[in-house]
Amino acid sequence: MHCSRVRTAVSARLDGEELPPGVTDGLLDAHLAGCADCRLWSERASALDGLLDRLRGPPHTGAARTGVVISSPSGDPAPSAAYWTDGDRDR
Ligand SMILES: [Zn+2]
Repeated sequence: MHCSRVRTAVSARLDGEELPPGVTDGLLDAHLAGCADCRLWSERASALDGLLDRLRGPPHTGAARTGVVISSPSGDPAPSAAYWTDGDRDR
C-alpha cells in the first residue's frame, strides 16, 4: 500500500470517518508497523488531533472570553464613583 494512501486512511480514522475503499484497519496497522515514516506521521497527526480538541475546550469558556472583550472594547475602565463625586465637590 502506498504511503500517501495510508496517511489518508489514518486521517480518516482519527476523524472517525470510514476508511477509504480497500483499506482495512489490519492493512493500516500492518503498514504502520513496517513503515517508520508513516508511523511518525500517524503519531503527529494523533497528537495534533488531541491538541485541537483541547483548544476547542468546553463551549462556555469561549463565550466567557468573548464577553470580556465585548464589555471593554477600548480597554479603558469605566469612570469610578469617586471621579463623579470629586466633580461635584469642585463645582
Ligand atoms: Zn508508509
